[in-house]
This record gives sequence, structure tokens and C-alpha cells, in this order.
Amino acid sequence: MQVIFVIENLMKSSSHGPHVVLINPPIYDFALYDLFLKPFGLLRIGKWLEQNSYEVTHINALDYSDPVSLETLGKPQRRRDGTGKFFRQELDYPENLARIPRKFARYGIVKEELLRKIRSLDRKPDLILITSGMTYWYRGVQEAVELCRIAWPGCPVGVGGVYATLMKEHCLKVCAADFVTKGPVWPGMKEELEKRGFPLPSGAPGVDYMNDDPVWRDSAVIRLNEGCPFNCDYCASSCLSPKFQAGDPGQAIKTIKALYERWGTRDFAFYDDALLVDKEKIFIPFLKEIIRLNLPLRFYNPNALHIRYLDENVLKLMIRAGFREIRMGFESSDDDFHEKKDGKVTMDVFARAVDALKSSGFPLHKVAVYILAGLPGQRWEEVERSIRYASGFGLRCRLAQFSPVPGTALWDESVRTSSFPLEEEPLYHNSTFFSMEWEGFRREDLERLKKLTRELYFRPEKRP
Ligand code: SF4
Repeated sequence: MQVIFVIENLMKSSSHGPHVVLINPPIYDFALYDLFLKPFGLLRIGKWLEQNSYEVTHINALDYSDPVSLETLGKPQRRRDGTGKFFRQELDYPENLARIPRKFARYGIVKEELLRKIRSLDRKPDLILITSGMTYWYRGVQEAVELCRIAWPGCPVGVGGVYATLMKEHCLKVCAADFVTKGPVWPGMKEELEKRGFPLPSGAPGVDYMNDDPVWRDSAVIRLNEGCPFNCDYCASSCLSPKFQAGDPGQAIKTIKALYERWGTRDFAFYDDALLVDKEKIFIPFLKEIIRLNLPLRFYNPNALHIRYLDENVLKLMIRAGFREIRMGFESSDDDFHEKKDGKVTMDVFARAVDALKSSGFPLHKVAVYILAGLPGQRWEEVERSIRYASGFGLRCRLAQFSPVPGTALWDESVRTSSFPLEEEPLYHNSTFFSMEWEGFRREDLERLKKLTRELYFRPEKRP
């Protein structure tokens, strides 16, 4: 039988199998807000390894309640819904990087404390696994690998996750991990375990994760479906999950109940790319069961929903289940844009979805419409038309600034047209650089459009 206990926010499960340390690394960026940023994949792997008699320790470098960092850096502002700021330390602007008027910072617990946590494990690790997010966050992964080398020289260190999948060669070279897993960790990591004589786990990581980790205390994330049946030119979903796989509403309910009982967690964000696909079989039964349970829960969808699947029925159920917001992936009011780049929405479909929103009674001030800005060759006029169009329905627009992602259909064009060396330096994938700036869409246009979105929302008399 496994004994589970918490030592100073290190999550540790005890068993006699190999000891695996999972690290959620710090993040280096120009700005960062914790919108339900959780080590979801990492803790799924942890659960699976535990089930296969591995001993697992989780070290979370993004822990915003770390006592040593609290004392050194002060308390980051957090919100009741479990979102908020991380610890932040301003850094010198990176050498050899094109200048932009932004401060570069490290987010996460202080480095010395992270090293101490890695060092002070009470059992020598047999394997260390580090997760990775955005490609332009690779410096946090690099730091985590370096600290592991200092703390446990000779211990194999592997990296997986989004950056590892999209830029395996870069990750191997720059972060100097012993191995990098591209795509799903299983069977991706099989050869590495075999090579080192570790017992091969059975099955594969499921949707179940290490529930006892304090990372879920204030808010949690869940995923019903894996992947997305669409293949939009600007999105990396199909590079990360090539196939849409329908989820199990019963399993998601089980996770939610377990977290509510264990931590009192009430705020849950969906990590789905396609929450509404096949909704009659998956999402609607999920919503009905949540309504039946009658728990004081709140739900969020930080990834946008497919507009074409929104209807009055599902919206009414979402209201009753406790959805606090709706984010819609609109991107553009230009039919030509959708014909060429995603095929996911038309203006008729959008207008129908807005009617459904209104008749369902969903509060419109809780609805955000994403508009894509800064794609290769895109003109600012197109973005302005889209903002004016969606604002005309009384909805709040949010500009989603394009970030070039390796492996997507727009990657080659992005590399060709950008003035930044996107292939060599992933920091330039950060939308803060506005790497697709050209004479038809300048940074000042972008700033003006951001202002316009606010104006049209807060000053209705300016709407078309
Ligand atoms: S942008 Fe949305 S609809 Fe398009 S592939 Fe990505 S997740 Fe799917």
C-alpha cells in the first residue's frame, strides 16, 4: 500500500520502486499571469508512475506560496478564483536579443530555494523529468536542467512537454538534457527506461493526475477531450495531439469530486481545445451530472470555444453548472480569412451564436471574443474591421497576438517574412516581439487597436 504525505510543498509518494523527480520549471518572460497554469501533463505522468510502483516527488518552481520566496520577494497578488501573479524577479535584458521596451523577468520561486529543494530530497533520484510549455520559455527548462546537474550529477534528466515536442533538437542542444521526449511520454520514454534498466510501466498516462498535490488547492484544471478535429494554420493543437479523442465525462466528474473533497477546490478550468465537439455525448452529460451534484463549483474555459457548436441549450446548462465566462475563438470577420486559414466559422454562424448567448441569458459582460492579430502579411485594417464587427454585437473583444509556432502551417511563411531569426532563437516566438510586423501592420497600429477594443466595449456610443 502506498503512503502519501506532503513535505514543505514537495509532493511525495512512497514506494520501493525507482525514485522519479518531476519538476515544473520556472518561467522567463516579459510578462506572465497565472490563468490556471498548472503542471497538468506532468502530474498525469506522476500518477501513472505511482500506479506502477515508482516513487514520485514533485517540485513546483511556480509555487506562489513558497515560504522562502514569500519572505524574499513578498506575496504575489492572487485572486479568489485561483488565478493571479507568480513570484517575479526582474532580470537584465538578455544579451544579443533585439531590444523591445519591456522588462525581462524570471517567474517562480527563488533559484537558491529551487536548488535547495532539488538537493534536499531524502532519497537519491533515479530519474528526473522536467516539463516544458511555450517554446519561448525554454530558459526556465535550461535552468532546471542546470540545477539538477549541480544537485545530482550523473542522474539522468529528461524533458517532455510542448517545447520539447515542437523543438526537440533545440531542447537537446541548448538545455542539454539527457533525453527529450517528442509527443506523448509513452511510448516516447520507453527506450530511455529500458536503456537504464527501469521497470516498464503498464498502460499509459490517463486523465487522472496526482490529486494530493497542493497545486490543486486554489484551483484545478481538467480536460474532457484530447486534441481538436480542426487544423487551423496558426494553431499547434494538431502537432501536440494529432487526433481528436473523445473524453470520459464520468472520469472528469470523479476528479472534480476528489479535489473538492480533498482540498475544497471550487474553481475548475478546462484545458480542452475542443470542449464542445460531440457535446451531446460528452460535455452535455458532464454538465447534467455537475448540475445534479449541486456543488458550489465555478468553471472557466481559458482556451476558446468553437462558436459553431454554441447553442441555447448548452449555454443554459453551462450557466446552471456554474460557468463564469465564455471565450469564443472568432479570429476574424473576414470570410476569406476563414476559408483560407481555418474553416471554423462564418459570419452567419457567429450571428447565430450571439443570438443563442442572448436568449440563454448568459451575461454578455462575461463573454470575450478573441480576434487574431499579427499573422504573416495581415493588414491592420482587417483586424480593425473584425473588432468593429464583433463589438457591434455588444461583446468584448480581446486581441490574441499571433505567436509563430514551429510545426504549424504558418511556420515557414513566418520564418521567411519575419525580421527576427525565429529558427535560431525561440524567444522571438513570444508575441511580445510582434515578429510579423511589416509596413501594413506596425506596432503603433497594434497599440491603437488594443485601445480601440477597450473603447468600443466601455463606450457603447462608439460602436457601429
Ligand atoms: S485554433 Fe481552435 S479550432 Fe483551430 S485547431 Fe486550434 S484548437 Fe482547433
